[in-house]
Amino acid sequence: MEPNPRNSVDLNPSGIKVQGTACVSGIVYGPVRWAHHRPDLPVSGELIPEDERQTEYERLLAAVDTVARRFRERADATGGEAAEVLRANAVMAADPAWSKNAKKAISAGHPADVAAVRATAKFSGMFASLGGVMAERITDLEDLRDRIIAEIRGEPEPGLPSISEPVVLLAEDLSPADTATLEPAKVLALVTMRGGKTSHTAIIARQLGLPCIVGAGRELSRFQDGTTVLVDADQGVLHSGVDPEAARAAMSAAAEHTRRITRWEGPAHTTDGHRIKLLASVTSVASAQQAAATQAEGIGLFRTEIPFLKARREPTVVEQSQIYAEVLAAFPGRKVVFRTFDAGSDKPLAFLDMAGEDNPALGVRGLRVAEGHPSQLQNQLDAISLASAESGGQVSVMAPMLTTVTEAENFAILCRERGLSPGAMIEVPAAALMADLILPHLDFVSIGTNDLTQYVMAADRMSPELAELADPWQPAVLRLIRHTCREGQRLGTPVGVCGESAADTLLACVLAGMGVSSLSPAAGALSAVGEQLSRVSMAACQRAAEAVVQAATAQQAREVAAHLLDVPGAR
Ligand code: PEP
Ligand code: MG
Repeated sequence: MEPNPRNSVDLNPSGIKVQGTACVSGIVYGPVRWAHHRPDLPVSGELIPEDERQTEYERLLAAVDTVARRFRERADATGGEAAEVLRANAVMAADPAWSKNAKKAISAGHPADVAAVRATAKFSGMFASLGGVMAERITDLEDLRDRIIAEIRGEPEPGLPSISEPVVLLAEDLSPADTATLEPAKVLALVTMRGGKTSHTAIIARQLGLPCIVGAGRELSRFQDGTTVLVDADQGVLHSGVDPEAARAAMSAAAEHTRRITRWEGPAHTTDGHRIKLLASVTSVASAQQAAATQAEGIGLFRTEIPFLKARREPTVVEQSQIYAEVLAAFPGRKVVFRTFDAGSDKPLAFLDMAGEDNPALGVRGLRVAEGHPSQLQNQLDAISLASAESGGQVSVMAPMLTTVTEAENFAILCRERGLSPGAMIEVPAAALMADLILPHLDFVSIGTNDLTQYVMAADRMSPELAELADPWQPAVLRLIRHTCREGQRLGTPVGVCGESAADTLLACVLAGMGVSSLSPAAGALSAVGEQLSRVSMAACQRAAEAVVQAATAQQAREVAAHLLDVPGAR
């Protein structure tokens, strides 16, 4: 096993250590600063006289106007995604339904700041019950409330401190307004108590290229303004009490690690020459072309629904085949896997006009849509077949959300009739459990660990509250993956992985040890996975694969794998 350059650094911190969710990687060292505290929220007190209520409402509206105007001005002064976020906030501030609710509270005699709290609580409650991405908007809503309250009281706007030297910015959760206006040159890293990988803090940090940890919890408040910390955003850890020399060594080891990744040339193999195919996961012609500029050996997952998410009518066979042909052209003669439309749930296709469902993740989605719209699946397969006729490459098609043996049998017939190689995503636990009977109908399968995890753990993949459960390192998920791999090996059917876990460098080694023959991370993560595989032996991967399924928790699985593979990846 080759030494990992980052293992040579012993941080040996004597101070506080706080763990969060790693979002944007990087290692930095510097003093912390907290974003401005939010105003104390009013408790409903004395009622105001009836003849003053109209003036009170006007005071509230004036504050709302000022807050919305500031957002618009900041949007004009910023660009890109940040400006869009700020404009969306300006619109949210001016929402008539919110003002109507606040007016109701004022008409009942409550002062303007209490009315702001009540109106916001009503909408936060609604957003929380919707869950997922909507629940993450609660931070935006509460940010608006705090700004409006500060304005009503004539207090300074809450948010970022004025910063003169580069700092590690800590906050409960940064609002879009905060993140959009911060000066990246003065911020070394962002660390928040709340938020998940899809929160605004994470999105903006990614855009600005700032190392970022989210969801660090209440423990974060143990760091005081001015404390010097080492932020290891690769592992999601924040330490105080790190010796400056050790911090410098950690930063230069991280820089060396990045250099090794950049220099990695592919193709991927372990130290003992065991090959793992690294294919890219793409969502459009442009991302396929970008992937072609990396070490990707082909495409392991093209999410075909993404280019058509907003289409008002079903794209014709010719329209579809033009896009598919361009994707094939990016990898001439190479393996390309088209996943048929995974419509429904988090990816509704406008043209399918699907009925609303109470529980869409468990509803009509993926291959199940074909039951009610058979021609749509047939048209798509015709389009892929048309595009493949000119390509000369190895064109494979896989079905999303395949659940039963009968579905596998029928899907395979439709593909083979068109000269396409049939496969399926294994992302429903039933399909993994029935692998012995499903695989014989197919040429290959690819494990979709995002959905497999959500369904095995009964935990919404979008929910920041359930991130610990919705973790592919959960041993229950790993056991099903191993089961699928074993069946694949027994039956001679290649098993790949195309969920986000294919981009987790430590898990990639474990998956290789389980017998996965291809991994399909996003193109940006491909070199890091390949470089990691180049430093481990297949025997070590197999030992790690055996050990993780015996672990009791996700954390233990990570730790034992990190130990056996000599990778500093346990969190
Ligand atoms: C998955 O579920 O792991 C997957 C790759 O599909 P998607 O993320 O598009 O649902
Ligand atoms: Mg999926």
